[in-house]
Formats: sequence, C-alpha cells, structure tokens
Amino acid sequence: MTDVALTGAKGRMGSLIIDEIRSSPDLKLVAAIDIIGIGDRVLGDVCVSDARDVQRVLRESRPDVLIDFTVPSAALENIHAAADTGVALVVGTTGFSEEQLSIIEEMIKSAGIAAVISPNFSLGVNVFWKLVEMAARSLSDYDVEVIEAHHRKKKDAPSGTAMRTVEILSRSLGIEDVRHGREGMCERGREIGVHAVRAGDIVGDHTVLFAGPGERIEIKHQAHSRSAFARGALRAARWVVKAPPGIHSMEEVLASS
Ligand code: NAP
Repeated sequence: MTDVALTGAKGRMGSLIIDEIRSSPDLKLVAAIDIIGIGDRVLGDVCVSDARDVQRVLRESRPDVLIDFTVPSAALENIHAAADTGVALVVGTTGFSEEQLSIIEEMIKSAGIAAVISPNFSLGVNVFWKLVEMAARSLSDYDVEVIEAHHRKKKDAPSGTAMRTVEILSRSLGIEDVRHGREGMCERGREIGVHAVRAGDIVGDHTVLFAGPGERIEIKHQAHSRSAFARGALRAARWVVKAPPGIHSMEEVLASS
C-alpha cells in the first residue's frame, strides 16, 4: 500500500487524482491539502487541510509520497515541506522560473529524497517528445514552430509541455533563439517559434510543425481528458517510493514500470 498526500486537492487535477485513488486498491489518500474547501470531506474520512499547515499535516499523516498540482509559488512551499519531512515527491505543477527550478533541485538534493517532476504525465506526450526528437534529427534545415492550445483558465503560458518541447528541439537542432509569437515586421530567422492559444475548455493540444521546401510535417498530441495526466502521476507515485534519491523524469518511470 502506498500512502499519498495531495496538494491542490480541490483543483481540476487534484479532484481527478482523488477519483483515481478511489478506484486503486494499492493507494491510500492520507492527506488532502488546499487553500480552498478546507474541511470538505474528499475521500473516506480524509478532509481538506489548510495549505498553511502543510508541514504539520505531512508530519502527522506520514505519507510515502506527496503529489503536487498547484501553482509555482505554492509548489515551492510544498516541496520544502516534503524535503523537511523526508517525503518522496511527484510534481506536476508547471510554470516554474529558472530560479525556482534551481531552488527545487537544491532542496531535493540536500534532503536526499526521490522526486519525479514532469510538465506532462501522459504516456502519449512522452512518446510525442521522442517523435519530435527523431524528426528534428532528420529535418535540421526546416523551419520549426511549436503551437499549443489550452483552456481559458490555464494560468501559465506557454505550457510547461511546450517549453519542454522547445528544450528538446533546441538541443537537437542547436537553435537557441526562441520567438514567442510574432507581431509587426519580423523576418523569420533560425529560430523556434512558440504560440500559445487560450480558449474554452481545451484540455491540452501540442503541435510541432516542421516546414521545408514544398512540404511540411506536423506532429501532434491532443489530450481528450485530464485523467491521462492523473493516471500517469499515480504511476509515477508508485514508482518514486522505491526510486533512489534525486530528480527523475517520466521517461524513467515509463521505462521501468
Ligand atoms: P487548478 O484547478 O487551478 O488547481 C490548483 C489548485 O491548487 C487550486 O485549488 C488552487 O487554489 C490550489 N492552490 C493554490 N495555492 C495552493 C497552496 N499553497 N497549497 C495547496 N493548494 C493550493 O489547476 P489544475 O488545472 O489542477 O493544474 C494545476 C497545475 O498542474 C498547473 O500548474 C497545471 O499547469 C499543471 N498541470 C500539469 C499536468 C501534468 O501532466 N504535469 C497536467 C495538467 C495540469 P485556487 O484555485 O484558490 O488558486
């Protein structure tokens, strides 16, 4: 049995993760934490605890793993609390700055805990990243654009998945210039274009477009339901409790579970 604590328990992702835990006999929710809905009963006798008490809640509920789907500033606090209490981590929150990422890395390293951090826990997107890398190797002279679309309530832009895609392209193509949207006179150079669409209730679309003389290729992933992310995060939670200390990728989880 793996005991799970969840921060962002009342959010879109948090609610789905609770639904998945409900139907997983090998997982037990021991703490649900948020800044909203405090006191609401979410599963069995677990009620939402106040995020301001995250340290105390982790000490008392003694989870094997903390899953975080919140916002970057909150995730930083939650990771700090997990590091302090020696709890393994699965972090799905996106939109961290470079500075926040290096603080997170340092906290995890010095606490000697294991963590899986990924901007996208779906199996499909992890395959999409491999296809993008493969295509970039063969199409190094083509123009490349990353286009993502999400629901109107998404807080960060471009998505963490789009930015990970840019990292992969940048490494594979040796292009450092990243152009976010275009306006006015802007001749295309050797750059990676990035475009973020925010509309309605789109769960998450990502397209990489390679265009060259007389042709183009589009590699596209579309998430139909957030449950793909929730299931992936729980797969990572089962894996990380047995993993060695350090920050691991979803690719490692999928390769060995
Ligand atoms: P959401 O519906 O806004 O849920 C986030 C929840 O966290 C909200 O209930 C929010 O409360 C709460 N929260 C804010 N500060 C908190 C704190 N200090 N402690 C605990 N909870 C706190 O967002 P979502 O759609 O679930 O997405 C959450 C994050 O996961 C985003 O960064 C999103 O980009 C990311 N995401 C990742 C994946 C992946 O596969 N890695 C997939 C989907 C989404 P308020 O509403 O009051 O702010």
